[in-house]
Amino acid sequence: MRYQSTRGTACLAFRDVLLEGLAADGGLYVPQSYPQVDAATLAAWRVLLAEQGYARLAYEVLRLFLSDIPDAELRSLCAAAYSETVFGSQVVTPVTAVGTDGQLWLAHLSYGPTAAFKDLAMQLLSQLFEYELTRRDTWLTVLGATSGDTGSSAEEAMRSLSRVKVAMLTPRGRMTPFQQAQMYGIDVPSIANIAIDGVFDDCQDLVKAINRDSDFKAAHHIGAVNSINVARLLAQVVYAFATWLQVAPDETTRISFAVPTGNFGDILSVHVARQMGLPVDALILATNENNVLAEFFATGVYRPRSSANTYATSSPSMDISKASNLERFIFDLVDRDSDRTAALFQQAEHGHFDLSTDAAFRNQRARFGIVARASSHADRVATIAHYWRTHQLLIDPHTADGLHVAATLQAAGEVTTPIIAYETALPIKFTATIREAVGFDPPTPERFSDLLSRPRHVTDLPNDAETLKRWLTHWLTA
Ligand SMILES: *Cc1c(COP(=O)(O)O)cnc(C)c1O
Repeated sequence: MRYQSTRGTACLAFRDVLLEGLAADGGLYVPQSYPQVDAATLAAWRVLLAEQGYARLAYEVLRLFLSDIPDAELRSLCAAAYSETVFGSQVVTPVTAVGTDGQLWLAHLSYGPTAAFKDLAMQLLSQLFEYELTRRDTWLTVLGATSGDTGSSAEEAMRSLSRVKVAMLTPRGRMTPFQQAQMYGIDVPSIANIAIDGVFDDCQDLVKAINRDSDFKAAHHIGAVNSINVARLLAQVVYAFATWLQVAPDETTRISFAVPTGNFGDILSVHVARQMGLPVDALILATNENNVLAEFFATGVYRPRSSANTYATSSPSMDISKASNLERFIFDLVDRDSDRTAALFQQAEHGHFDLSTDAAFRNQRARFGIVARASSHADRVATIAHYWRTHQLLIDPHTADGLHVAATLQAAGEVTTPIIAYETALPIKFTATIREAVGFDPPTPERFSDLLSRPRHVTDLPNDAETLKRWLTHWLTA
């Protein structure tokens, strides 16, 4: 399997795109084709998952994409990433029924170390990084900005790696108490938490400023783990298969997926599984009040918004108005025409692109299955209260966005197949909204019981790139 950019034709091995972010032409790396999976393979994978667990399934799916990593190596990287110790069970992503009519299911993607689905990709990414850095005998400094879930997930996954250091910028005082405790409670020399006097976008701008300084970047081997990394996408494809296999009674039953969406990463991985032949009906995309994607799929007009025009909502991990992974879907939509993709996203830089009269867009639902809707704060609070009252099921606000849109489409008859809704985080991460919905705080899972009382390790810095560079140089060379 080779990889190319959505804006060009360069043809690279997986190992050469693993540590990269954007391609040099500004596009995103994608596999040159989607490997096809037939019914017999699905039947075999069903047995593998049941008998040997998620790690084994991950190996089977990933070997189709990561063909330049030797089989034995890949198998042990998957075993290390998806162990029962890390995820609490061999199934890793268990699925439970919501109600008794078999129409709605919840896929639990949040049983990893930081209680959000990002752990599923990050645990594998850390294994792949260490493997490749060892092979090249080099090292890496991961520099990122986070509003919560990505940062803690990356730090937990990378904390014991010998060739990777992690510096995460966080907006001071703007993460939930649980998220702050998760990050600042880590006391490991290779991890630095930096609280910036500013908002998330300021943190993001500082990362960009540092990446523009190519001397600094090269001297300190600065890299990233953001959601455009192609290995993260491929890792997420595995649980589309794993959850489908737990719900579909046979190899031809079509199932829909409901995915709360921010950067379009999680839903894109279901799209990839569908392109590989997994019998998926609708891909239900839920946004919050930041509804750029819901508008695009309703109208064909894609109009990303600036961060100043992005609302702070009660599903904060979806407060995104420029979904970094959308380009990979558009590339498929325009039949993998990289010149057209490049032209469209250059237009978007200057405002918007319009596919409303384009045949490919008008055929989208039949060909790719995406149905998108927005959800509001009132919807998510009502949904959390509803599932607690009727099913004794406590869900987080992001999961509530997905379930709200899924139930709405099912009730309207727009989706008639059973739906797997992704549970993207546990309620403990977002206590204030849970309290508002049900009147009490969510219970703290046993494994996090001492988290809030751990001593904090965080450096306060002003919102200034030169100060940050001086601090990083000192930290990295100490
Ligand atoms: C990151 C995140 C999302 C959004 O996922 P994307 O892949 O960015 O679309 C949804 N819910 C939670 C809890 C998240 O952390």
